Amino acid sequence: MTKTIAILPGDGIGPEIVTEAVKVLETLRDKFSLAIHLESGLVGGAAIDATGSPLPPATLDLAKRADAVLLGAVGGPKWESLDISIRPEKGLLGLRSELKLFANLRPVVLFPELASASTLKPEVVAGLDILIVRELTGDIYFGQPRGIRTLETGEKQGINTLVYTESEIERIARVAFASAEQRQKKLCSVDKANVLEATELWRQVVTRVSRDYPTVQLTHMYVDNAAMQLVRAPKQFDVIVTTNMFGDILSDLASQLTGSIGMLPSASLDANNKGMYEPIHGSAPDIAGQNLANPLATILSVAMLLRYSLNRVDLATAIERAVRQVLQAGLRTRDILGDGQYTVVTTREMGDAVVAQ
Ligand code: ATP
Ligand code: MG
Repeated sequence: MTKTIAILPGDGIGPEIVTEAVKVLETLRDKFSLAIHLESGLVGGAAIDATGSPLPPATLDLAKRADAVLLGAVGGPKWESLDISIRPEKGLLGLRSELKLFANLRPVVLFPELASASTLKPEVVAGLDILIVRELTGDIYFGQPRGIRTLETGEKQGINTLVYTESEIERIARVAFASAEQRQKKLCSVDKANVLEATELWRQVVTRVSRDYPTVQLTHMYVDNAAMQLVRAPKQFDVIVTTNMFGDILSDLASQLTGSIGMLPSASLDANNKGMYEPIHGSAPDIAGQNLANPLATILSVAMLLRYSLNRVDLATAIERAVRQVLQAGLRTRDILGDGQYTVVTTREMGDAVVAQ
C-alpha cells in the first residue's frame, strides 16, 4: 500500500535542506519502486505568515493522516518578538504532543571521514556509535504546577515540576531495551536518583523492565557523571536512555563529538512507530537562503524514516552508504571541513551527489 509522507520544510534553511531530502525520496520512488506519496504542509514561521498559526489545522490533519513526517526546521529572528504561545517553536511542540511522539532517537555516529572535524581527539572518537533514547513528552517540560508567581513578600518565584509516572518510564525503557537488543546489547540509564525522587522511580522501573530483556546489560549513571564520561570516553556507551531534560542536554553535547550539528538526524516515534523525522539542528538563519547548509542530517533523517516507519532497512542502509561514499569522495559543505584537501560544495551539489550514489 502506498504510504503518505508529510513534508514540512519550515523556516530558514529548512526549505533548502528538505528539498535535497525530497530528491532522495523521489529517487527511491522512481527508481526503486518505493510506494510513497509526498504531501507538503506549512509549519512554524512560514505557517504563521500564511495563516496566523504555527500549526494550522490542515497541517495537523496531514501529519495525523500521514504514515511519517519529514520536518526541516522552524523559527528565526523574524518571529522572535511574538508571544511565546504563538511562536514557530509551538508548531513543533504541538506536533510532538498531538502525535504522542514520546520516544526521541538520536544516533550519534562518527563518519570516519570526519574524525578530524570532531571536537575531541580522533583516537577518542574513532568508531563512535551511540544511540541516545530521550523521553520526549514528560518531565519538567510538562509537569504541573508551573509558572512565575509573586509571593506575599512581593518577591517573585519561578516553579517547574519534574513528574514521571510508571507507565511513561516503562514505555520509553522498552524502546531503549529493544534498540539495545539490535545493537551491542548495552544500555546505560541516566538519572539523578540520589537527589530527585521522580528519577529514583525512573531507576526502579528501568530495572524492573530489564528482566524482560535478559540479553541486554543494564547500567545506571548519574547525569553529571554521564556528561563527563561522554566527553572523556564516549565509546564506552552503546544505548543511553534518559529523561526529557537530561536527554536534551546530553544529546546536544554528544552531537559535537561527531564533527558537525549538520550531520545528525533524529526520529521521534509514537507507540506504533509512526514518526516525525528531522535534523537535530535548527533553522540556521545566519546561512539561510545561501545554498550553504549541510543537507546530510536531513538526508540521514530520511534513512531513519525508512528504517523505523516504512520498515525498509535495505533502503535506509543504501542512503547511509551513499552519504559515506560522498564523504569518501572528498565532498564537504563548509561546516564539516576538517584538516585536509576537500571539494567544498553547496547544499544542492551535496544533495545531487548523494542522489547520484
Ligand atoms: P534552534 O533554536 O532552532 O535550535 P539554534 O539557534 O539553536 O536554532 P541552529 O539553527 O541549529 O541554532 O544553528 C546553530 C549554528 O549551526 C549556526 O551557526 C548555524 O549556521 C549552524 N548550522 C546549523 N545547521 C546547519 C547545517 N545544516 N549546515 C551548516 N551549518 C548549520
Ligand atoms: Mg538549538
